[in-house]
Amino acid sequence: MPLPNPASESSSQPPRLHKKKIAEHLPVTATSSALFRFGEQCNYRCPMCSNTGERELFFRDTDELLRRAAFLRDCGFRRAVVTGGEATIHPGFWTVVEQLAAYGMKWDINTHGRSFAAPGFAARAVDSGLERAIVSLHSFDPPTSAAIFGVSEDSHRGTVQGVVALLEAGVDVMLNCVISRLNVDQLDAYIEAAVESFGERVRVKLVFPSTIGKGGQWSEIANLRYDDVRGRIRTARDTAARLGVRISFESFPSCVLDDASTVNYGRSTFGESHYLDDATGDRVYSMRHIEAELSAYGEQCLQCAALRNCPGVSHRYATANGVAELHAFAAREPADAVAAG
Ligand code: SF4
Repeated sequence: MPLPNPASESSSQPPRLHKKKIAEHLPVTATSSALFRFGEQCNYRCPMCSNTGERELFFRDTDELLRRAAFLRDCGFRRAVVTGGEATIHPGFWTVVEQLAAYGMKWDINTHGRSFAAPGFAARAVDSGLERAIVSLHSFDPPTSAAIFGVSEDSHRGTVQGVVALLEAGVDVMLNCVISRLNVDQLDAYIEAAVESFGERVRVKLVFPSTIGKGGQWSEIANLRYDDVRGRIRTARDTAARLGVRISFESFPSCVLDDASTVNYGRSTFGESHYLDDATGDRVYSMRHIEAELSAYGEQCLQCAALRNCPGVSHRYATANGVAELHAFAAREPADAVAAG
């Protein structure tokens, strides 16, 4: 039950913001996984792209990626999450992932999925240690999907075929649907099409857009507010429950979802415990530390029963829009806590 919001934003004073403090260093254990970026190069042109667009981060040659793979192995990692840009188009993709496999490491991938539509691609990836894939797919309506990917409708169809191939190869697939003004009215249809196209094995993640990358000013996400989408998101959650589709959310505060138990499915929740420094490739940081540094909470959050699991909002969102949309959940009474076990 949300409490009244104690933070008045009727004055011109900016809201007081808070953040969680998470240590920068996190020991590497047998279950740790590092985000391993192959460079920002990509053959899709998503106008909302969250990559930096910095020239020096665009491409790493294969020798440098192999050096980074060896560094991760030497740190003790047994798993990596491969990402880009689009890692599958890197000319050294197979060389590097097969080196990870030779080190005895498993890997997951963030991808637009189209490369996996090629015959044998998904099976070879599985043979090289691929276990899970988060595949970007923002609409099942070809014109809308093509507009959000910034490519042709054929490329959209390639992504859909790539998901089919990944599932057939036994990969655990989660669709990554970033919300924008172009697709927010299609979310129910999206859930229905996901189960129709891929069956109930596929999972869906709905993501509130990040505006910190090079695509942050795209008109279809710029100034998008939680209040603009919360009704659609909750309806999509109900539709997923009705159809038996497993659904997660990323970058949605618990009070926007009106569910204090929701766990934000950000990078750390996916299991990415560490981030390999993109620029230098010779240092890892705690992913939870990075996520905490980029997030913000309002005064009302300090009394909120959902605070522990809640991602809050991005610091950029809070400074641009304030935090008046956030409403604390009432703390449980001790008796309730006992009853809940
Ligand atoms: S911690 Fe803040 S953002 Fe999260 S549910 Fe509570 S009031 Fe909302």
